[in-house]
Amino acid sequence: MSSLAESILETQNNYEQRFNCAVCLCPKLHMVYGHCQHNFCVDCLYDAGGNIRTSMIKCPTCQMDRAFPKTRPDIPDDNLEMMRCLGIQSCENKGCDVELWQWELEDHVRSCPNRVTTPKTPYSRPHIKSESSTSTKKAKKESVASPPTTRQSGNVVLRRLRSFRRSSLL
Ligand SMILES: [Zn+2]
Ligand SMILES: [Zn+2]
Ligand SMILES: [Zn+2]
Repeated sequence: MSSLAESILETQNNYEQRFNCAVCLCPKLHMVYGHCQHNFCVDCLYDAGGNIRTSMIKCPTCQMDRAFPKTRPDIPDDNLEMMRCLGIQSCENKGCDVELWQWELEDHVRSCPNRVTTPKTPYSRPHIKSESSTSTKKAKKESVASPPTTRQSGNVVLRRLRSFRRSSLL
């Protein structure tokens, strides 16, 4: 492996470690910030009934007592949007609540157990009417070249562009 690729990977790992939930070590959209500035995901902090788990009454990182709300708080949309800007994505497949890093999403989608196989829609080229006014009397030859239309990866590019714009707003 080249040293550049290595350093990119290292940076990526540091980044992930910094923003992952420190308990389950996963990227999560729903994070709760404690008084001590440490943050954990709601699944690790609260039980199914929305009450704080006994192991989390003290912050597991710094041991601060009651650093987090006793009951599960509502996470504002702004916070979710911020986590998305950091690169945390949720799988879009119905019934799949996997949350992961943007750069892991492609691999996951390929093997997602809830993957829906979308039927292929046949791509139909717009019919171009060819003008039948080909006069060879004059020396001037008109060659009308229609630009090739590449639509196949348009959506992907658009999505990348959008997420890029979004992240550059920070
Ligand atoms: Zn967690
Ligand atoms: Zn703490
Ligand atoms: Zn999935």
